Amino acid sequence: MTSDPYIKRIALFGSTGSIGVQTLEVIEAHPDKFSVEILTAHKNHDLLVRQALQFNPNIVVIVDDTRYAEVKEALANTDIKVFAGEKALEEVAAMDCYDLMLAAIVGYAGLRPTLKAICHGKTIALANKETLVVAGDIVIQKAVENRVPIIPVDSEHSAIFQCLVGETRNRIEKIILTASGGPFLGRKPNYLVNVKKEHALQHPNWTMGAKITIDSATLMNKGLEMIEAKWLFNLEPEQIQVLIHPQSIIHSMVQFEDGSVKAQMGLPDMKLPIQYALAFPKRIVSNFPRCDFKKINSLTFEEPDIRTFRNLALAKDALHKGGNLPCVMNAANELAVYAFLRNRIGFLDITDVIERTMDKVHFIDNPTLDEYFESDGEARNYAADIMHLS
Ligand code: NAD
Ligand code: MG
Repeated sequence: MTSDPYIKRIALFGSTGSIGVQTLEVIEAHPDKFSVEILTAHKNHDLLVRQALQFNPNIVVIVDDTRYAEVKEALANTDIKVFAGEKALEEVAAMDCYDLMLAAIVGYAGLRPTLKAICHGKTIALANKETLVVAGDIVIQKAVENRVPIIPVDSEHSAIFQCLVGETRNRIEKIILTASGGPFLGRKPNYLVNVKKEHALQHPNWTMGAKITIDSATLMNKGLEMIEAKWLFNLEPEQIQVLIHPQSIIHSMVQFEDGSVKAQMGLPDMKLPIQYALAFPKRIVSNFPRCDFKKINSLTFEEPDIRTFRNLALAKDALHKGGNLPCVMNAANELAVYAFLRNRIGFLDITDVIERTMDKVHFIDNPTLDEYFESDGEARNYAADIMHLS
């Protein structure tokens, strides 16, 4: 907790995840610049308590209310207020005690608290790409209305954001979103049909939460990122290109009308885009490992194989058609990925579930927020039926 006006007060939603933990490492290295005011977690109460004891926030939220008593008890000798339940996320997102929300909840669950923060004028550092995939038009419209900056944390979008600094009057011809290709780059369906979650969870370049790691293996992550980019940078689908770049050194590129291309580079390390978003518009020092170009033999690029990795084709379709289709796709993907992680369906079934759900749920061209919520529910029900999940 702080009252120093020069310190940015941070609300970290999803503090126990991969992005959450790395965000706290960045904050720990800069106690003169950031304070932690809110921490939230879904189930991992042990880690939440340890984080709270170290960073002394105003408030913690444990979403799973069966763990409330344990958290309350563990923090009994502190001034930290403890809340529980899903609704509490939105309630604390509306509070005055912080300046910037780092949105690091995974999936659809991040949407409501982030929207609430936007409506209360908070700056958003956005890791939770699903927020823009589900309801990008409404999120951006609310951000504009409330003059709220949305600073991307996703490494590709941070790269594009950094390339665009100083270019406000210049038209973007296209952006090139780079993708590592994931653990199954070059593989064909006859191989993918047998892959297990242990295999799919091994990402070559990044260590991340389970859901995004599977999304990277299926290339759905890049599909979600195309839709995220559309909303963040106000682009037409035709202006967004995906290129496989297995070394993950170029984090993405922007091509301008004169043909000039700007890239942002560095070693794959999420702490860099996290720190950039927290400190924006300043760059602040870091001790992150530096890129030694002499040790990088080559940077290579290739077209993604969308015939094998059909999730990317489905996401392109959703990007082009718009309406509630990205929301429906996201819901089916979330459910299918969790079913795959519980060994309930195979790797290639993920795509079938998404495709069938996208075909089935009725299309709405210009959904209201409630219609997005309904489409999400409808898609989840349908996807669960296909997979025989109760
Ligand atoms: P993670 O699974 O490691 O962590 C997720 C966090 O969200 C945890 O703190 C968890 O407690 C919380 N959470 C989960 N379900 C919740 C629910 N229903 N309600 C409230 N809280 C819930 O995920 P992650 O890898 O840190 O990713 C977080 C977000 O950042 C995702 O949207 C992901 O796409 C995005 N992202 C992650 C990375 C990365 O390197 N991990 C990179 C770019 C973007
Ligand atoms: Mg990314």
